[in-house]
Amino acid sequence: MTSDLLDQLHRPLRDLRISVTDRCNFRCRYCMPKESFGHGYDFLPKNEVLSFEEITRLAEIFAALGTDKIRLTGGEPTLRRNLPVLVSQLAAVRGVRDLTLTTNGSRLVEESAPLRAAGLRRLTVSLDALDDGIFQAMNDVAFPVHRVLRGIETARETGFAPIKINMVVKRGVNEDQIVPMAQHFSGPAYILRFIEYMDVGNTNGWRTEDVVPAEEIVARIAENLPLEPVAANYRGEVARRYRHRDGGGEIGVISSVTQPFCGDCTRARLSADGRLFTCLFANSGVDLRTPLRAGASDAELSSLIRGVWRARTDRYSEIRSSETASMPKAEMSLLGG
Ligand code: SAM
Repeated sequence: MTSDLLDQLHRPLRDLRISVTDRCNFRCRYCMPKESFGHGYDFLPKNEVLSFEEITRLAEIFAALGTDKIRLTGGEPTLRRNLPVLVSQLAAVRGVRDLTLTTNGSRLVEESAPLRAAGLRRLTVSLDALDDGIFQAMNDVAFPVHRVLRGIETARETGFAPIKINMVVKRGVNEDQIVPMAQHFSGPAYILRFIEYMDVGNTNGWRTEDVVPAEEIVARIAENLPLEPVAANYRGEVARRYRHRDGGGEIGVISSVTQPFCGDCTRARLSADGRLFTCLFANSGVDLRTPLRAGASDAELSSLIRGVWRARTDRYSEIRSSETASMPKAEMSLLGG
């Protein structure tokens, strides 16, 4: 489906990331540190989270505006009860040609088959280390890496291929895992993507010194495994891609910090409580849930979304500095990355 909807920087609205819950079973130090997301934290009550019907209705409206890619995220999306039911509803939305899910992999042993049967065709698993000590220190809930690896294996056996693996690299924490991860996930079954550690949310105490630049990540891998660059698949592809010269598959680097790509950003984000965010680094979103629940028509909701997108000027990563890093932002666990 095509649409002439463009923002102030002439970017179309192509992708929608939908957070289905703000809860997660991990407490990754760089995303939901225990000190901020401990027992007293106010997660959204159930009645404030969008229902499957509400999500599907909004997805249909976005699709009619030209969105053809939907990614489910969270929190941890597989914690949302009956997630395959939502997947089957979204898989039937006209105009959506790509439906995918980002997960920490902790529930893939149980969930791979039902998700695939419901119509999910692609999967991204976040995994920051192969070393169990490093992995457990990062997820901070003593979740063992072998359970995520078993989940990835189950997903592969269920027919997900290639599976994307996302690794956030933080200086002094898991940088020595770059090469082992590249070796482990070489081959056509996987696409491994390295993500620069970003200043999302307000709780991770981000500092520039903690970022391992994408260029350094590529250089470290190239010292051990020969690489060659690959052209982008499409406008807005966030990863810069490389192929193993020995024919063993592909890696990518997402350099939101050192080489920002706002000019090509075609993504909108719907938070678990139904707010529309036009940037991962935004502080506030536009409430779609209130009009939705007050009986707004599809035409009215569509007009609201079009207005927000037309006014969009966000280019945070291009203007990032040590001052902007401390500006208030919505939490990643609410928005879903
Ligand atoms: N729980 C799911 C998962 O683990 O993939 C989905 C939500 S999680 C917020 C989405 C992605 O954001 C994960 O790959 C995570 O590593 C990444 N992420 C979280 N905080 C980040 C940060 N400060 N910098 C870079 N990536 C981050």
